Amino acid sequence: MTAITNHMPTAELQALDAAHHMHPFTTGDDLNRKGARVITRASGVMLTDSEGNELIDGMAGLWCVNIGYGREELAEAAARQMRELPYYNTFFQTTHVPVIALGRKLAELAPDNLNHVFFAGSGSEANDTNIRMVRTYWAAKGKPDKSIIISRHNAYHGSSVGSGSLGGMAGMHAQGGMPIPDVHHINQPDWYAEGGAMTPEEFGLARARELETAIKDLGEDRVAAFIAEPIQGAGGVIVPPDSYWPEIQRICDEYEILLIADEVICGFGRTGNWFGSQTLGIRPDIMTVAKGLSSGYQPIGGSIVSDEVAGVLNAIEFNHGYTYSGHPVAAAVALENLRILEEERIIDHVRDVAAPHLKQGWEALGDHPLVGETRIVGMMASLALTPHKDSRAKFAAETGTAGYICRERCFANNLVMRHVGDRMVISPPLVITPDEIDTLLQRARKALDETHAELKEKGLLQAAS
Ligand SMILES: *Cc1c(COP(=O)(O)O)cnc(C)c1O
Repeated sequence: MTAITNHMPTAELQALDAAHHMHPFTTGDDLNRKGARVITRASGVMLTDSEGNELIDGMAGLWCVNIGYGREELAEAAARQMRELPYYNTFFQTTHVPVIALGRKLAELAPDNLNHVFFAGSGSEANDTNIRMVRTYWAAKGKPDKSIIISRHNAYHGSSVGSGSLGGMAGMHAQGGMPIPDVHHINQPDWYAEGGAMTPEEFGLARARELETAIKDLGEDRVAAFIAEPIQGAGGVIVPPDSYWPEIQRICDEYEILLIADEVICGFGRTGNWFGSQTLGIRPDIMTVAKGLSSGYQPIGGSIVSDEVAGVLNAIEFNHGYTYSGHPVAAAVALENLRILEEERIIDHVRDVAAPHLKQGWEALGDHPLVGETRIVGMMASLALTPHKDSRAKFAAETGTAGYICRERCFANNLVMRHVGDRMVISPPLVITPDEIDTLLQRARKALDETHAELKEKGLLQAAS
């Protein structure tokens, strides 16, 4: 068999890919027709594809490459650890230096009383841990009926059966027998799409109080936890109204419901603090982490757990764990990633330089005829495409038609920007410079202009009635 290398013609790579590789969240036949984009290398905030195009990665991979691509130190950390101890497990009373060091570091960085880490290989696995952890916690406290976890429609918490059940993605629940029992969903705080005539503040309170209503309906003695992303990422970078989180916190405190903040995207600087919980003023009992924990250089995730919850679980045997919980190479790489984030003051760069610069330019896109709203917190931002700015109208065409066209126009202009339905989202590497931000914004505006022209030409600028 011929070796497969970067030098192979793109069409051959695409054909082999389509023949043998099943892609996540992709229609295989579409991919077969069109061919996958083959990414060959990356440096800083730039990707190179097999055709030699250089794209700005406005998504930091999948919301994860916080320190940017090409950091030799992480490659060195991995190589060093692989030579010294490539693998050992943390079951049955064994441990190793990288996982000890990473646990201590995360306890130092995490807020207040969150001082204990249960490691996993991904965000999905960590959220599966959380399901069992909160139920086991209440059972150990003599309340085995407290097993329901409340989440939100259009949340994303992962793709395993457990975490996908926590998530509120209708398309996922339609396949393969999800959600599992004792998961309940309330509505999301998406004012732009669902707020109607309410002010954002009224709407934020109303949506938060759905949690209180659900607790009363289901019974306080049945509800174990509420899980939410501080800011929904994959759902479309939905920034909740200011009234939302304080009310959620009040309800969790009042009814003794554990609060799980899914920080898989918001963590490690994305919102301008180490954790989104700090930016939004939340006091979680458990935080889910992954993605930016290693800047995506290694698969690793975890649950950062409060003294109280860890104390109860430590008194029993929690029959749970993954072969790769606290994998030494992943832990060493994560630790090096955190060292770089800290020593290079990357979160200060976000707060003082990159986020203000991006905010100014992103909000300026709001004057575009196709843009109904812009939202941004730190280095995660979204905009809503609309055929009619003033009424927040949706398109008559199937949801996602305009968003898909816009995403394709972004690609054609060497920018990776994702669409979630008809919202466009970005989440660039945190190290992006002001000049690179300006280039990103110029390309985004050009893509919006071209999208507008294409929608017009195809007669798709109609509002839904
Ligand atoms: C990506 C994501 C997950 C799942 O993480 P994986 O590493 O893909 O399993 C969970 N929660 C949130 C908020 C995410 O964005």
